[in-house]
Amino acid sequence: MTKVLVLGGTSEARTLAEMLDGDPRIDVVTSLAGRVRELVLPQGETRVGGFGGADGLAEWIARESVDVLVDATHPFAAQISVSARVAADASRIPLVQLIRPSWLPEQGDSWTPVSSTDEAATLVESVADRAFLTIGRQGVGSFARNERTWFLVRSIDAPGPSIPPNHELLLARGPFETTGEKDLMVSRGIDVLVSKNSGGAMTEAKLAAARDLGIPVVMIARPPVPPGDHVAGHAADVAAWLRSRLRRGTS
Ligand code: NAP
Repeated sequence: MTKVLVLGGTSEARTLAEMLDGDPRIDVVTSLAGRVRELVLPQGETRVGGFGGADGLAEWIARESVDVLVDATHPFAAQISVSARVAADASRIPLVQLIRPSWLPEQGDSWTPVSSTDEAATLVESVADRAFLTIGRQGVGSFARNERTWFLVRSIDAPGPSIPPNHELLLARGPFETTGEKDLMVSRGIDVLVSKNSGGAMTEAKLAAARDLGIPVVMIARPPVPPGDHVAGHAADVAAWLRSRLRRGTS
């Protein structure tokens, strides 16, 4: 049996767990940070909560005799991805990175790339009257000092107390579709969309809506993370890589 630890919290991680669950040669455990109010559990075995940094993760890997580590966390979850690299090296096991492709601008898009939420906040304050903030719960605090702009803040769970004074909070979880996103942007008079370049189909409708409505997008680039030994964009690629490894008898 090959023991696989999937660092999850994404739809890709859930798809991978579903693909591997039931394979008699593979024992999969998905790990979740456990910070969202209503956890969406993947198929198969799960564990919840931090490991206590890279050392704690390496200890867990040793204790549970993990053979392969898969980092399928969100592209903006940089800390756990650094821990994964360090722990995989210390444990001498391969690290597979499952990272969804970035969104790319299309004809008709008007994107301004920025490298952080703080940079996005500075730009928004100078250009936006009514901004649609779709960066999740974390990072909303960067916009808290902006008293000029009105914000529509959308996240799965409510952000902390550090939030811009003029705002409406919308708690919602994707998938979203273009018509609904357009209706939302028109009804709130949105003039700028703020997004992380998360990639994936679940939340990309906002970009099509902004394109159709001629609304500019402030696009926050992904933080750098150390590369995996094998990098895949889709769950099926990781499942195929694991199975070919089993056929070769590597683990
Ligand atoms: P982060 O900043 O990279 O991680 C912070 C700490 O949370 C890590 O050091 C680790 O604690 C713990 N952690 C994170 N992911 C974990 C996992 N899968 N299993 C066990 N512990 C984990 O990550 P984050 O941005 O807070 O994201 C937390 C989770 O939410 C991730 O699983 C990610 O996939 C998901 N998520 C994040 C975003 C986003 O925009 N950041 C969006 C959607 C989903 P220890 O150091 O104690 O091990």
